[in-house]
Amino acid sequence: MSDFTPTERTKVRRKPDRGSYDRELIYRILDEAFVCQVAFIVDNEPFVVPTNYVRVGDKLFLHGSTASRLMKTLAAGTPFCLSVTLLDGIVCSPTATGHSVNYRSVVVMGKAEPVEGEAAKLAAMRDFVEYVIRGRWATVRPPSEQELKGTMILSVPLIEASAKVRTGFAVDNDEEYAGNAWTGIIPLHWTAQPPIRDPRGNASIAPPPNIQQYSRPQ
Ligand SMILES: Cc1cc2nc3c(=O)[nH]c(=O)nc-3n(C[C@H](O)[C@H](O)[C@H](O)COP(=O)(O)OP(=O)(O)OC[C@H]3O[C@@H](n4cnc5c(N)ncnc54)[C@H](O)[C@@H]3O)c2cc1C
Repeated sequence: MSDFTPTERTKVRRKPDRGSYDRELIYRILDEAFVCQVAFIVDNEPFVVPTNYVRVGDKLFLHGSTASRLMKTLAAGTPFCLSVTLLDGIVCSPTATGHSVNYRSVVVMGKAEPVEGEAAKLAAMRDFVEYVIRGRWATVRPPSEQELKGTMILSVPLIEASAKVRTGFAVDNDEEYAGNAWTGIIPLHWTAQPPIRDPRGNASIAPPPNIQQYSRPQ
């Protein structure tokens, strides 16, 4: 698997030692999350909109209503930038300015192409459902022809991407540690809570393991 090539737009300039173009690392970060922030420009106005994505091989799929401004703008070939952030911890330093956060984040520059054809759209919808909850597709009603028509799916080739990762403790000088403040890391990790049954659902169906023990990456 070849690394991404840094470009003028994706070259990490500030703290470059934290930057990476390692494709495996970038894909691991993308696969742990499934929500990104998409930034795009409409009529000279910048917008950032959160949305779900799935990674399938060397591309991302985005999906949404055919009426969505986000989807219509991206489908028209408008260049955009998306980012994904995993917050791993709060770094408590002995100094006010030394505090930091541990994180893994990815920035992707791209252009999207609409996925055309019922079979291709259906396959992408399956990818979406399975990416978020593995094993889910087999248990739910698949999209109808009408639902597929009303859903736009965009494919984003992963060509230009970077990661930035911060790990570890504060980087203050040793003499700063003589003070009274507790120092260290408050680790953060999002985990699923026990599932809540929809009262309209069939009460005799117990949550299967993919729901009961939900975790990421799947
Ligand atoms: C975690 C998450 C996952 C989502 N996944 C999807 C998805 O997979 N597909 C999908 O189509 N949509 C998704 N959405 C909803 C998405 O953010 C947009 O609201 C939706 O796509 C409509 O986009 P639009 O450009 O048509 O919005 P418009 O209604 O045209 O946006 C107009 C304005 O409304 C405000 N606005 C729109 N969306 C938001 C928002 N989410 N939060 C705050 N203000 C907002 C902004 O000010 C924006 O400029 C998701 C939202 C979240 C938070």
